[in-house]
Amino acid sequence: MESNVRVRFAPSPTGPLHIGGVRTALYNYLFAKKHNGTFILRIEDTDQTRYVANAEQYIIDALNWCNIPFDEGINKNEKFGPYRQSERKELYKKYATILLETGWAYYAFDTAEELDAHRKGHEAEGKTFIYNWHNREKGRLVNSLVLTDEEVQAKINAGENYVIRFKSPQDEILQMEDEIRGNITIDTNTLDDKILFKTDGMPTYHLANIVDDHLMEISHVIRGEEWLPSMPLHVLLYKAFGWDSPKFAHLPLILKPVGKGKLSKRDGDKLGFPVFPLEYTNEATGDVSRGYKEDGYFADAFINMLAFLGWNPGTEQEIFSLEALVETFDLKRVSKSGAKFSPDKTKWFQQQYMQTKSDEAVTELFLPILTEKGISVANEDEKSQVQKIVSSIKERAIFVEDLWDLSSYFFETPSEYDAKNVKKNWKEGTPELMQELVEIIKNIEDFSSANTEKEIKEWITNKEIGFGKVMQPLRLSLVGKLAGPHLFDIIATIGKQETILRIENAIEKL
Ligand code: GLU
Repeated sequence: MESNVRVRFAPSPTGPLHIGGVRTALYNYLFAKKHNGTFILRIEDTDQTRYVANAEQYIIDALNWCNIPFDEGINKNEKFGPYRQSERKELYKKYATILLETGWAYYAFDTAEELDAHRKGHEAEGKTFIYNWHNREKGRLVNSLVLTDEEVQAKINAGENYVIRFKSPQDEILQMEDEIRGNITIDTNTLDDKILFKTDGMPTYHLANIVDDHLMEISHVIRGEEWLPSMPLHVLLYKAFGWDSPKFAHLPLILKPVGKGKLSKRDGDKLGFPVFPLEYTNEATGDVSRGYKEDGYFADAFINMLAFLGWNPGTEQEIFSLEALVETFDLKRVSKSGAKFSPDKTKWFQQQYMQTKSDEAVTELFLPILTEKGISVANEDEKSQVQKIVSSIKERAIFVEDLWDLSSYFFETPSEYDAKNVKKNWKEGTPELMQELVEIIKNIEDFSSANTEKEIKEWITNKEIGFGKVMQPLRLSLVGKLAGPHLFDIIATIGKQETILRIENAIEKL
């Protein structure tokens, strides 16, 4: 049964979703699923100056890739739509008017130039200009608190620009509760009278956000710490409307790898890691930003890493599937202090997930790369051969892409040989020795790894030479360098004919 828990992720479509945004979405998703609730996506696009056309689709694609799709939103279970604020314009005007009528808001006609002059005047005296209880009725500011109703109406009729400001209360101590931070107390005299409705006929974030959270029956607002300073205004707005306020939870910032400051795209560029889930092309500049998906990360590894940026289960366990995260997640275990992002830890999660995936699953992921390299895997036999190869090298892979580098010699005769290895291991007498080995190999009937090992080693022992004299040049011939798993496993995998061919190739080329 669906519960009354309704949470929303409410991004502004101003560009690609930063991993901090994905983390916010993830915690909302986990909280919703944990409580059988609903996870809603609302697009907060009231700031037209910052609107970016491809951002909304990017956000949806990112949530889908992460496997945390929204339950309700644009074109999906639309119960309280529309879910784009730009399509809800009429509504906000109505609610702003209610606040004007109840005395919780007022018209302000101060022009940008006038406000700027006030600001500069204050700065000159070393003060900060705040528009609130201490000056709003002193006569220097032009608003409906000091003008008569007729004067206000005349200005509006004359088409003068105005905004609607919230009239924050004077001399009140506001008590608030945050699910993560506990009790927060604030003196309302420190608040400024924020604009709720703008000259362009659009609401500001604050008004639209509160109206929508109320109308969409949001039970918990889970969002980034950067919105904590807005909480008093939001709590007061609920009070002004006479609505029950949802519960609030402000998530800690995600910090730069060095610890101080918010993680930015620039940190990623500098240190060489993506800060976005998916690759993003800025349509205006053509700039392409890297994404975790395209960099080869598994979505579940990425999500597991993100879950730990600000939360922990209170045990040593670090590997959690999405289902396990849903089960274990608890807002009470989200930390108040910032979470340091670690590109190394992110890789570590990826590596762990690579190891826990079955050989079969990894093989499926590897096949398209083989096709790309022109290697055909035509039947089940060949596929199971690839799976054996995957099983022997997976341990050393972090990304699916690594599998090729680790195993290309299984599929291709080496065309180059590591010069250093050659110099050290391909000596006078080696070609003759390798030629003799070819003859030995030709006569081996049972080409299993164990048997080729036995027969070749016997031959070496009988010749009374060091193993290295044969084994190193042999590896060089087969792999092109002194790397790779157990040599006889390679021999058994590539087969007799290919083994002979590669040794003869090396004799000819080296
Ligand atoms: N539109 C805001 C943002 O971009 C939403 C903040 C909130 O969740 O209240 O983050």
